[in-house]
Amino acid sequence: MPSPRVLCFGEALVDRLGPPGGDPSLPATADHPVEDRLGGAPANAACALARLGTPVAFLGRLGEDAIGAAFAALFQERGVEVSALQWDPERPSRTVLVRREVGGERRFGGFAGDRGLGFADQAVDVARLSSDAPPLLAGAPWVLVGTLPLASPASAQALETLVALAAERGAPLALDVNWRPTFWGLDPDVDPPPLVQGRIRPLLEQAALIKCAAEEALALFGTTDPVAIAESLPRRPAVLVTDGAAPLRWSLADRSGTLPAFAVDAVDTTGAGDAFTAGLLHGLVHGLVNGPQSGEVAAMDPEHLVRRAAACGALVTLGAGAIDPQPSTQQLEAFLRRQGG
Ligand code: ADP
Repeated sequence: MPSPRVLCFGEALVDRLGPPGGDPSLPATADHPVEDRLGGAPANAACALARLGTPVAFLGRLGEDAIGAAFAALFQERGVEVSALQWDPERPSRTVLVRREVGGERRFGGFAGDRGLGFADQAVDVARLSSDAPPLLAGAPWVLVGTLPLASPASAQALETLVALAAERGAPLALDVNWRPTFWGLDPDVDPPPLVQGRIRPLLEQAALIKCAAEEALALFGTTDPVAIAESLPRRPAVLVTDGAAPLRWSLADRSGTLPAFAVDAVDTTGAGDAFTAGLLHGLVHGLVNGPQSGEVAAMDPEHLVRRAAACGALVTLGAGAIDPQPSTQQLEAFLRRQGG
């Protein structure tokens, strides 16, 4: 077995971006450019970790189609371990239609590709996961999950099984809340309703580390104070509340603080949060004092750790898409030197 890897579980999909003001579901033409970008938070984070040099495996389910092939090539190029990746012979990979308003704002425009059975990411096979995941969980320093698999019964069962297997093996859980109402069949701007909050709650309670956006923190906890959030949960997890270019708030072990974002000329903020999470896990894997099995977030210097993670997020905003601009450690170090630290 290769060296222990961070295990990222969840969706790998395509974001289909329409031209500003245009409909992404219409075919691409010279006058109507439509751009497909590989994405999905756990897939983005896996690629970002690999780019930083942290061994990582991705577990999810893709269709046997062009999107699946593109991910296979990407994962191979980055060196992401895919022995537990599942292929669905019937269901397609998911395409998310993203409408770009003329002002740059993005709005969800539906999904494309469903042939009546739903998407591959909704149908993770729990029996296969139960046999494929344990070897990857042995010694895994972190298991990173989001909440989107909870929206589909089969994948919810797979996620819950993975979390139980990880707990049995002492692999700490990192949770990126990543609230996306449309995956639950809800209007794009609604907060998680009580029923959904009830589904998410067990993950929040089991996580050793939680990354959430400020609006997610407000919706789930009624506060953006990471210390208050940590104290409201039985495991008192590490909590990172990010807010794009606004300062992020963090609580790690017994320390907490606020960090302004780096001043950069952002061109596309897609995937900044995923690179941030990857930067954080990368730092924790390499900076743990107490050893990976403890599940304790005991980094040598939490401020330093959070700053490096924020730099990963900032660097991703400098290029198009979530994956191409992800930094290597050399690029991260060079950026931090330019920023004076
Ligand atoms: P998400 O993509 O999950 O919504 P955020 O947009 O909050 O996550 O970004 C995560 C982190 O990435 C931020 O806390 C910040 O450190 C960095 N980041 C994001 N957007 C910018 C930006 N425009 N300028 C500088 N840093 C940014």
